Amino acid sequence: LPPVIAIDGPTASGKGTVASLVAEKLGFHYLDSGALYRLVALASKKEGIDPHHPQELGDLTQKLLISFKNGLILLNSEDVTEAIRTEDIGLLASTIAVHPEVRQALVGVQHGFRVSPGLVADGRDMASVIFPDAILKVFLTASVAARAERRYKQLIAKGIPAKLTNLLEDLQERDARDSSRGAAPLVVADGALVLETSELSIDQAVQAVLDWYQA
Ligand code: C5P
Repeated sequence: LPPVIAIDGPTASGKGTVASLVAEKLGFHYLDSGALYRLVALASKKEGIDPHHPQELGDLTQKLLISFKNGLILLNSEDVTEAIRTEDIGLLASTIAVHPEVRQALVGVQHGFRVSPGLVADGRDMASVIFPDAILKVFLTASVAARAERRYKQLIAKGIPAKLTNLLEDLQERDARDSSRGAAPLVVADGALVLETSELSIDQAVQAVLDWYQA
């Protein structure tokens, strides 16, 4: 099987940016697993499904047609690249992600990304659940303040209205839920190396991962 680099961490830690750059440098494929949970959240909202109904959510997840093409994310052939990035959808994603029915329905989709010459996968449970045999496991994190600021800048740059104080609260709420849930809690996996990025530039963080991979 092609090698996998698993990069897990809390929301807005910068893992998405770092993971996609590492993938680019190595010529590997890239999996943004958070996008999958966001897609399910968006679809459930459109269909009016109660976020606390695991069975219906699981069934919905199995039926979704998801594709990543030329930097665009398609849901049942509709371009939802921007629509899944709102804070609302992020929060809803973390609500529906607690259900094992949803997580299970996404396992095969995620394994499908493991193709030659290799994969960089970012998420919460890449190292612990989805790719336990990853050749390198990184737990990428940063302080809540640093993460709120990064998310704020990201949103503003995209023209999406945001407030720093609301973002801080959202992050804390999401962290609490992601780390305390029964199914696939956000934890530092066995054998994972911790990368604290509050004081690192993106380039420095990318280089640290590449150095570990090449070591
Ligand atoms: O990383 P991102 O903010 O896009 O993820 C959205 C939500 O999806 C997270 O808050 C988390 O609850 C959930 N998620 C997950 N497992 C993953 C990736 C994301 O539960 N592998």
